[in-house]
Amino acid sequence: MSRTDLGMPTFPQAARVSTKDAGLRANLTHATHTIRAKRAAAVAELPDWPRLRAAGAAVKDHTLRHLDHYLLQLEQAVTQAGGTVHWATTAEEANRITADIIKATGETEVVKVKSMATQETGLNEALAHHGITAYETDLAELIVQLGDDKPSHILVPAIHKNRTEIRDIFTRTMAAWGRPAPDDLHDTPAELAEAARLHLREKFLRAKVAVSGANFMIAETGTLVVVESEGNGRMCLTLPDTLISIVGIEKTIPTFRDLDILLQTLPRSSTAERMNPYTTMWTGTTPHDGPRNFHLVLLDNGRTDTLADTTGRQALRCIRCSACLNVCPVYERAGGHAYGSAYPGPIGAILTPQLRGTSTPLDASLPYASTLCGACYDVCPVAIDIPEILVHLRERVADQKDGHRAERTAMKAATWLLDHPAALSATERAASATRRLHPNRLPVPGPGKAWSDARDLPDVAAESFRAGWKKARGARTGTGTGTGTGTNEPKHDKDKDTPR
Ligand code: SF4
Repeated sequence: MSRTDLGMPTFPQAARVSTKDAGLRANLTHATHTIRAKRAAAVAELPDWPRLRAAGAAVKDHTLRHLDHYLLQLEQAVTQAGGTVHWATTAEEANRITADIIKATGETEVVKVKSMATQETGLNEALAHHGITAYETDLAELIVQLGDDKPSHILVPAIHKNRTEIRDIFTRTMAAWGRPAPDDLHDTPAELAEAARLHLREKFLRAKVAVSGANFMIAETGTLVVVESEGNGRMCLTLPDTLISIVGIEKTIPTFRDLDILLQTLPRSSTAERMNPYTTMWTGTTPHDGPRNFHLVLLDNGRTDTLADTTGRQALRCIRCSACLNVCPVYERAGGHAYGSAYPGPIGAILTPQLRGTSTPLDASLPYASTLCGACYDVCPVAIDIPEILVHLRERVADQKDGHRAERTAMKAATWLLDHPAALSATERAASATRRLHPNRLPVPGPGKAWSDARDLPDVAAESFRAGWKKARGARTGTGTGTGTGTNEPKHDKDKDTPR
């Protein structure tokens, strides 16, 4: 991902501010707890959920292993169906291609259906430089756009706003963007939705160009699929003359049959629905039906590099359901803006540093934005082992030149100690003997103090595990306190490790 604002604060700096915002925390807690309970109930209805989950992961893994083949097949199918395919290596290239297509139509306005890819590339801002206004039509995206804000959730970009705040935004700013909000607008969901509907309808009926993303692209037929709940997507995808879809290359799946699996897991994981209300599919162009021109912009922007990392590539399985955000204790408190990316929460913490690299302080801080509790892995409908990738990326950050120096030094010291059993035993004995003198916090300023300021230091046991083991072993065999040869030590048999 080539869009990085170098002035953005690191995750801990941003989270320090957001966690003090009681209103934000209340909005987030209410929304995430509600949807997580509903999701759990929707998933529990399916007795074959684990098999669906494994099947979804297998489809995505297979596609990623043969992505070069499937992308070429997709290009051929889209072209045969009357569409035009463009390849964009970077965000800037994708934006330039899109702006050129729109300028060629002579239009200066476009309607958009929510697309993570265009947030990733910063399309709206790029189009504004060319004198083109992009209107968001997803309700939550509209709220964010009118409020001059940024999305903070994959599925519910305005999750950090409550109804009263939304009413105030509509009343204050709708008139500047088109049809004003009614004078006596209240903050009931029905009134807010009606105000948005009337405001957007004008734009749908006027727009000649639409920009979309896609949830899936089917290689065998060249079909694109958008799933949504409000019907705004259906309007964008069918009414305008020209449709431009900007889609990450990892959204490819091989066949129509594969869609069967993912359309069962995505709605339940994201909105806790058995089936999403609107599923729109289109294949190139069709005479007298839908857009007359269709352009597909295939976005790489760091995905090929991510694919090359056999551990990290799991992140490209993501189907953007947002279930991992709704269960993450860190996201719930810090909010989505703290991640400094279009992708917040656990998926953002592993995807953004892979797409953008870990060279900036912000991106290097993201793999640490987690407690590694594993809740994100448990809910992921395509079984992405997010904790495993977080640890993998932490290793990468710790190894890089400007990585976490303190962590690197601590790891080196720990490695040396573990390599020298006599020194380790002496250290353990000294720590046990002085345990009553240990403070709860590290007093010396530095990373250790920062770490212990937020948590108590763990108590040191009266005797080390190794000493206790030898004693117990000696009591059982009657050989005193053990031989001291190391043969009594527990052994870790790697081959017996089972995957989670
Ligand atoms: S990582 Fe998994 S749970 Fe999170 S958004 Fe992606 S598919 Fe959903």
